[in-house]
Amino acid sequence: MTIKEKTIGWNFDNSYSNLPKSFIYEISPVPVKRPELVILNHDLADQIGLNFSNVDNEQLAKFFSGNLLPKGSKSLAQAYAGHQFGHFTILGDGRAVLLGEHISKSNQRLDIQFKGSGQTPFSRNGDGRAALGPMLREYLISEAMYSLNIPTTRSLAVVKTGENVKREKLLQGAILTRVASSHIRVGTFQFIRTRENLDELNTLVNYTIKRHYPEISKSKNNAYDLVSKLIDKQIELVVNWMRVGFIHGVMNTDNMAISGETIDYGPCAFMDSYNLGTCFSSIDHMGRYAYGNQPAITKWNLARFAECLLTLISPKKDDALKMATELIDKFDKIYEEKWFYMMKSKLGLIGNDKEDNLLIFELLEIMKKQELDYTNTFLFLMDQELDDKKDFQNEEFGNWKIKWQKRLAKDSKKLMKLNNPVIIPRNHNVENVLKSAENNDLTPFNDLLQALKNPYTDQKVLTKYQSPPPKSDEKYQTFCGT
Ligand code: AMP
Ligand code: MG
Repeated sequence: MTIKEKTIGWNFDNSYSNLPKSFIYEISPVPVKRPELVILNHDLADQIGLNFSNVDNEQLAKFFSGNLLPKGSKSLAQAYAGHQFGHFTILGDGRAVLLGEHISKSNQRLDIQFKGSGQTPFSRNGDGRAALGPMLREYLISEAMYSLNIPTTRSLAVVKTGENVKREKLLQGAILTRVASSHIRVGTFQFIRTRENLDELNTLVNYTIKRHYPEISKSKNNAYDLVSKLIDKQIELVVNWMRVGFIHGVMNTDNMAISGETIDYGPCAFMDSYNLGTCFSSIDHMGRYAYGNQPAITKWNLARFAECLLTLISPKKDDALKMATELIDKFDKIYEEKWFYMMKSKLGLIGNDKEDNLLIFELLEIMKKQELDYTNTFLFLMDQELDDKKDFQNEEFGNWKIKWQKRLAKDSKKLMKLNNPVIIPRNHNVENVLKSAENNDLTPFNDLLQALKNPYTDQKVLTKYQSPPPKSDEKYQTFCGT
């Protein structure tokens, strides 16, 4: 270990690599030609007990490209499967490599993973690489989600590889360093389930519980309790997405993390005008992962998760099925309660009133009909400075507002402030800063990133990021970036 490396503070303890051979494939990142650091998240580094301030950019580029692996890392690709748009497929890390688990100062176990680091045995026909735009997009949006207080993987660094990747056209190659509380997915369970090896399934369940849900390690039926835990976690997550208008875009079961973190920022985007059918992804022709479908898809994915554990829930097939079905069926009621509470919080409705339901649905109906901007509607109600308020100056909205105002209490605005972001990464702003970054000007990217750090606090610079995109005939589209 070099002196510099010692001062960084890496503290690897790699438990996933000790799992059975079938779970992993030991492999190193494929070295790249001319690595160049694009961005490094010093705040995150600091939070997890790492310090890169004594390392020069050339060395950092080597670290974050995988050309120089940190001492203690033991890199591998993880095996998993998944339902992609409803179809079951064997997958695995085709363009990612897990360096290992770093133990933070506060004793958190964190996966350090490269995304875009070259081919693995799971690459199928892919090149194992990623392009700069999508990696910076993941960096920006995952960090925005973190600041919005939504469970998420984080982004530590992006480097350019100095190599081109071939997509529809040639693009600059890049590698993202992702930090996650783990990369165990619903799809990981699906993969192990296909192997029909009860020992392996038990190993995965025990490993997952130890890592994420130690409170149920002594339970009588830990597989059942694990499903129950995941239901709660995923409801919490999807309610948060609905709160800020986040559309994940590709909620395949391989992109649902057991930790309950938002993972895999591909074609995700934020909703502008309110409509449950909002769907930006170019490959989601049927709107399977549209904004309003996200709760139902979460439930569907959870059912796939429960299916993997049936044999552990009860050795009697019928009993297992009955227990799992009853558990999954609890989803709707829990979700509805949590969603309702969240909407009440957005509107500052404290306590209960029998008209609350009506008040919420009336507003949503108006928003849909008048194509009102989701984020800005709540900002308008909070008396926030907005460039343009004319969308809200009509009789229907005004009448609703009068009814709503009667229901407010002393602390309503305080509650609203905690739940309604004054800034989100709006699609057109994201596209603009990525375009500049691809042309070597990172200033707009950094400015937006900075503004997104305090999404519940008024800031001077905000108005420039608050306006919805100009109305256009062309529908905004997002791409997987694979
Ligand atoms: P994603 O759409 O990013 O969730 O990826 C779905 C699957 O495709 C995963 O198994 C990825 O590892 C794999 N994959 C995505 N992009 C590539 C690529 N460029 N090369 C190889 N595999 C890839
Ligand atoms: Mg994925």
